[in-house]
Amino acid sequence: MADKRRTVKKAKPDALMPVQPNAGVESEYRRKMQDLITSMQKAIMYYVIPAYRNASTDRIAGVKKIQSMLDDVKTRWLTKFDEAAPKLAAQFVAKASQNVDLNMTRQLRARKFGIHFELTPDMRAIVHTEIVQNVSLIKSIPSQHWTEVEGLVMRSVEVGGDLKTLTDELHKRFGITLERAAKIATDQNHKVNAVMSRVRQLEAGFTQAEWVHVPSRYPRHSHTEFSGKIYDIAEGALIDGERIWPGQLIGCKCVSLPVLPDYLR
Ligand SMILES: [Zn+2]
Repeated sequence: MADKRRTVKKAKPDALMPVQPNAGVESEYRRKMQDLITSMQKAIMYYVIPAYRNASTDRIAGVKKIQSMLDDVKTRWLTKFDEAAPKLAAQFVAKASQNVDLNMTRQLRARKFGIHFELTPDMRAIVHTEIVQNVSLIKSIPSQHWTEVEGLVMRSVEVGGDLKTLTDELHKRFGITLERAAKIATDQNHKVNAVMSRVRQLEAGFTQAEWVHVPSRYPRHSHTEFSGKIYDIAEGALIDGERIWPGQLIGCKCVSLPVLPDYLR
């Protein structure tokens, strides 16, 4: 595995290096989502525990009270995520795009080719699409979390379950949600990086690229097989019957080595 990664890092005379997704961009995005999740979880615990204790004295009234308390806290947190999502997504996409532009500019300059990337219509369209996609992913975090939390709390209060078990289960659910945010940050950082690299490669006059397989959590035999082959950047590579680009499919960490156009040789 280490060897395979090293071949990606070694510059070839006839190709640019792939733009690697920026780890700092990913961790900042992850941290911001996880900070929101942590504050939401604190609010859940703050309101649920006393309400749950009171509910044990009068079950029927308690169930109603807990339900309406959960509704209130949930509405407040869904709104908070709704409000935070556009800015969070826009910041992330902007930083991922800066990373691509900086990296490619630096590589082209090293080959004595000065280029200044503008916000072209293609790039603007991609920035827009990726922001929309990330906004909806960010918003899906609290809604999924709440579905689980409500289920856990209401089931527990109805059967008169003990607080310790409920607290443990809520904590476990918190961990799963944090993990989901981390996965979103990783996947999106790779995806945005790949899509934007492709646009910039085309804009800089590259037409062909070499597919380089990078091992990931989602092993795909067809990607290993295609590694080292040349494909058309605009059309994509024909793998498993469809035109795709490196890093496009979920969990795919494959990258491309853009083959130098004539003007750069
Ligand atoms: Zn792949």
